[in-house]
Amino acid sequence: MFIDSHCHLNFPDLVSQLDQHLAAMAKNNVSHALIVAVDRAGIPGILKLAEQHPQFFASVGMHPDHENEPEFSVEELCELSAHEKVIAIGETGLDYYRLEGDLSWQRERFRVHIRAARQVGKPLIIHTRSSAEDTLSIMQEESARDATGVMHCFTESKEVAKAALDMGFYISMSGIVTFKSAQDLKEVAKYVPLDRLLIETDAPYLAPVPFRGKMNHPALVMHVAEEIANLRQITLDEVARATTENFFRLFAAASVSETVPA
Ligand SMILES: [Zn+2]
Ligand SMILES: [Zn+2]
Repeated sequence: MFIDSHCHLNFPDLVSQLDQHLAAMAKNNVSHALIVAVDRAGIPGILKLAEQHPQFFASVGMHPDHENEPEFSVEELCELSAHEKVIAIGETGLDYYRLEGDLSWQRERFRVHIRAARQVGKPLIIHTRSSAEDTLSIMQEESARDATGVMHCFTESKEVAKAALDMGFYISMSGIVTFKSAQDLKEVAKYVPLDRLLIETDAPYLAPVPFRGKMNHPALVMHVAEEIANLRQITLDEVARATTENFFRLFAAASVSETVPA
């Protein structure tokens, strides 16, 4: 079975067809999906989905692209993450691609998330875009290695992957790895140790080949796994087993209400 380690199933276009997406997950052997928060408004809906469906886990946090939102304090994030289906803090990180100008608020927000993750002992979901250097230095300065976590939708170089791996982080591949143009990323997917790899859709974005350009959903994570199996010359089964074990090892809180699948 497969786990989608990062999706936004609570977004209106996806959640309006929830039954369909659950059926597709069952058909493709996708046992679980982690629904990742991007803002305050989405969190109650994510928690409700996670409470109602054993397939779903939740995270709490605020995405670096969400400007002008009231910031979370460390205490508030800690309180929200006490919910038993919340297994991670994020998504958080830096994004210098989408926004310009003085982004010191982004860096401060990122630090708050790292402090909360360390305090509650739940791993971080880190988004980094055109900002790898600052992302890694803040991770160092705030001792993110104590919380660990995942570099989600990874699109950076081998060197950045190595730096994150050295801090105990996992690397998650999205549908981008299936794109013909992503030759460097395909190399990273071969480079990362199998016991540190995760797979994700980042749905509704970034549908993998052969669905590129369409709306993405958790069942399609299987195609990310297929690409990794091809690249590493291992069986799809091995990718399924490794990435599922990795998920439950990293997100230890997920195992509390779950039996780890064999
Ligand atoms: Zn992201
Ligand atoms: Zn995301």
